[in-house]
Amino acid sequence: MKGICVLGSTGSIGVSTLDVVGRHPGAYRVVALTANNNLDRLLEQCRAHRPSYTVLLDETKAAEFRHRLIAEGLSGIQVLCGAKALEEVATLPEVDSVMAAIVGAAGLLPTLAAARAGKSVLLANKEALVMSGPLFMQAVVEFGAELLPIDSEHNAIFQCMPAGYHAGRNPPQVRRILLTASGGPFLNKGVDELHEVTPDEACAHPNWVMGRKISVDSATMMNKGLEVIEACLLFNVAPEQVQVVVHPQSVIHSMVDYVDGTVLAQMGNPDMRIPIAHALAWPDRFDSGAEPLDLFAVEQLNFRSPDFERFPNLGLAYEAVRAGGITPAVLNAGNEVAVAAFLAGKIPFTAIPAINEYCMEAIPSRPVDSIEGVLAADTEARAAAEAYIARM
Ligand code: NAD
Ligand code: MG
Repeated sequence: MKGICVLGSTGSIGVSTLDVVGRHPGAYRVVALTANNNLDRLLEQCRAHRPSYTVLLDETKAAEFRHRLIAEGLSGIQVLCGAKALEEVATLPEVDSVMAAIVGAAGLLPTLAAARAGKSVLLANKEALVMSGPLFMQAVVEFGAELLPIDSEHNAIFQCMPAGYHAGRNPPQVRRILLTASGGPFLNKGVDELHEVTPDEACAHPNWVMGRKISVDSATMMNKGLEVIEACLLFNVAPEQVQVVVHPQSVIHSMVDYVDGTVLAQMGNPDMRIPIAHALAWPDRFDSGAEPLDLFAVEQLNFRSPDFERFPNLGLAYEAVRAGGITPAVLNAGNEVAVAAFLAGKIPFTAIPAINEYCMEAIPSRPVDSIEGVLAADTEARAAAEAYIARM
């Protein structure tokens, strides 16, 4: 039985992961669960999965959680606290696989620690990869980690790669990656209408139920931009080889176009348990709990080209990946600050790409050769974004 640590177990991906794990009692033992503040859900997960460790970020919550575990008769579960503890549980010897499902830059250090400990890293946390880029991919190779993409598009691409493929290798037979995008909730809104949209409207994704940050990213198409960068890193291809294809039904999760003209697609219902089950069972397969795809109900598959004018974040992401160095981390950090401000009702939706562009202009690219350098760029970009918002 393999040991698993779920970083961000109380989030959308964390919950789906435990749902799949729960369907295969002999396959995985849950060693560690980590959360930010949803104690009720974490307690429920402890009852069902009996982990050895849980991690909470703040000491007050950790103390409260210890009492709640004792009251439930679950005093054997250790409650650790703080960011360092995330790295500790991700690198425990009894952990074979780490589900990296913390949202945003906060997931970088524990995800990197898992790679450096040679774990099987199931990567949902795209921000961690976008920020640390080649440094993260080098760590995967150097420490013999296995990197399995969870993002549905990248998992689809991985599944369409040649037999025996491992993330990070350049597949010479591949001409292009066709990265599909639903287009999000505002696919058909005009520029003028976008100014007025609310956080709840932005989070009402037509096909996927996800955390609020990634939902806003889907609405601004920053999510697709981050995924372009993610694809360049995971599959070692040039940005020119990644073509975004708007496909509103979200049935094809992405495609690989080979030099002989063959295009392989991975299809399925939009249910994150499919890529999660794929990575958990890899290189085998097992049940994910997802409904079988009913093509007669789907009826049509449509495709159109992305609109770089209404969704400037997509162009910024291509610029960032071409610039390299700290720039993807700068874009990511600016975007995290902008999305948080939008969700808090402080800025309009259309300010998000404006802030991202400002950060990229204000902080010129420079090479980066250490994680400390990445974190410094992240801090600098957050300060630039905050300053921009303060002036608005
Ligand atoms: P979510 O907001 O639902 O969950 C985030 C998890 O991270 C929660 O468990 C939360 O407690 C934890 N967390 C938040 N801030 C933290 C911090 N500062 N320190 C430690 N833990 C913290 O998010 P989600 O939708 O599950 O997304 C998680 C990641 O997976 C994101 O990077 C997202 O881009 C990626 N992803 C999600 C989906 C999806 O369908 N939800 C699809 C593809 C990729
Ligand atoms: Mg995705």
